[in-house]
This record gives sequence, structure tokens and C-alpha cells, in this order.
Amino acid sequence: MVVGRFAPSPTGPLHFGSLVAAVASYCDAKSQGGLWWLRIEDVDQTRRVAGVSANIIQTLQRYGFTWDGEIVYQSQRDQYYEAALAQLRQLGLAYACTCSRKEIADSSTLHGIEGVIYPGTCLQHPTKPDTPAAWRIKTDRSPIGFADPIQGHQQNNMATDIGDFVIKRADGLFSYQLAVVVDDALQGVTHVVRGADLLNSTTRQIYLQQLLGYPTPAYAHIPLVLNADGQKLSKQTLATALPDDNIVATLIAALVFLQQPLPDNALSLPLAHLWQWAFAHWQLPKITSD
Ligand SMILES: [Zn+2]
Repeated sequence: MVVGRFAPSPTGPLHFGSLVAAVASYCDAKSQGGLWWLRIEDVDQTRRVAGVSANIIQTLQRYGFTWDGEIVYQSQRDQYYEAALAQLRQLGLAYACTCSRKEIADSSTLHGIEGVIYPGTCLQHPTKPDTPAAWRIKTDRSPIGFADPIQGHQQNNMATDIGDFVIKRADGLFSYQLAVVVDDALQGVTHVVRGADLLNSTTRQIYLQQLLGYPTPAYAHIPLVLNADGQKLSKQTLATALPDDNIVATLIAALVFLQQPLPDNALSLPLAHLWQWAFAHWQLPKITSD
């Protein structure tokens, strides 16, 4: 059974880039007769904007998406993330860290794919008393790779490209990486289709899956929708919210972006028919990385 999911963060209303990601994962799952979950990734409660989750759900409904089962909210799942952290601690794979950002920047000499690599200070020295601790996962030099059907083979050396990364922050919030891995495993997700902005996260997620004894889903990362200035559409780049009207035309634009074929009379089709046609003709290999 194929199980896919769409997992928006409620930091702003859905824009065309988020629609493209939703369409891709939806068609990928439904074209294979699979299930498709909706998960609201509100684990980082400092970035949550009131009312946005409800707005995202309404927009998806308006565009004709139907998800299977109940909507999952990461903000309600700390117990599962806590259990995974306990498992990693028991295995001796996670350790507390009381270093400040500045201390790390001052003491690290290595740069990875996302900035300075944590030098392992708190592995070698006692942590500071009375200081809230983050939890880091130990990394090693074994390479982690996967075959992406759109982006090609991807590989990272966890120790030299990433370093010991945070799985629970000092403010008590679980990291995106841990929450996603736990949820994908508990929800039985087999196929992750998402935007290429998350390409750098995937090896970390596979590494955590291996440490926790979880299966690794198939991953495909679709190209990002860019604005006229070449920036990724996002709240930061002031991407406009999806329109409430012209839904069929907007959905067609998303399918065109994903290099999918269209029926002759696409614009005059009822929404439900367009979806059925999209499932029947969906071909992930048509998507190219540029
Ligand atoms: Zn530290």
C-alpha cells in the first residue's frame, strides 16, 4: 500500500508553490491507489500564526483535495517525539548540549552544507549547570544516500557535511527533523514527494530512521516555484495566497509546472473530473529538476 502525505507548516496561507507540492504528493499517492494524509507541521510553535491552519485546510478543500483519516497536528504529538528521544538516549546516540550559538560559532572550525559544524564540545566536557540543554544526535562518517527520481543520487557524510544536529531545542521544542521522522514512521508513509527546499534535510531524516529502526520511504523532491526575481515563493518573499476563484485554471497551472499532460478541454472540466484525469495520467518521471 502506497501512503503519501502533505505536511504544510502553518506560517502563512498556501501559495502557488505549496499547491504544486500538494498536487505532486496527492497525484503520486492517488495514481497508485494509495492513501494520502494531511499533517499540519506546527511543531515550532514560535512560528505558528493564529488561524492559518484553518485557512490552509479550507483552501485544500476548495481545491478539491480529500485526505484520508484525521488531520494530524504535530503540536499534539510531543509524547511520540519524547519517546523517540528517550530511545535515542538509551542507545547512547543523543547527548545534552548547553552551548550558546556564539560559543559554537567561536569554537567551530568546520563548515558543512548548512553552516558551522558543532565541534562536539558537550561530548567532551560537562554541560553547564542550571542552563537549559538542547539534545543533539551523534553523527558518524558513514555516508547516507538515496536515489531521487527527479534530483538524482544524493549523498551526505553526516559528520563532515552536517555534524551532530539538534533534535530537541533548549526551549523544549522538538526539531523539525525528529518530528517528521517520527510522524512519517507512525503514519506508515511510504512515499514522500515534496519541494526541493527540503532536499538537504533528507539524509538527516534517513539517518534518524536508521538509528530508530524505522523504514525509509521513497523520496522525490520537486523543483521549486520561483518568483520573477528567482526567489522561492514563501511568506518571506511575499508570495500571494492562492486565489479563491479560478480554481481549475490554477490547478491546471500547477499540473503544467509539474510537466504533466492535460486533457484538451481542461479549462471547462468540473474540478472532480480534472482530478480524476490527473490521477489517471500522472507520471512522476516527467518532472525534471530544472
Ligand atoms: Zn554543547
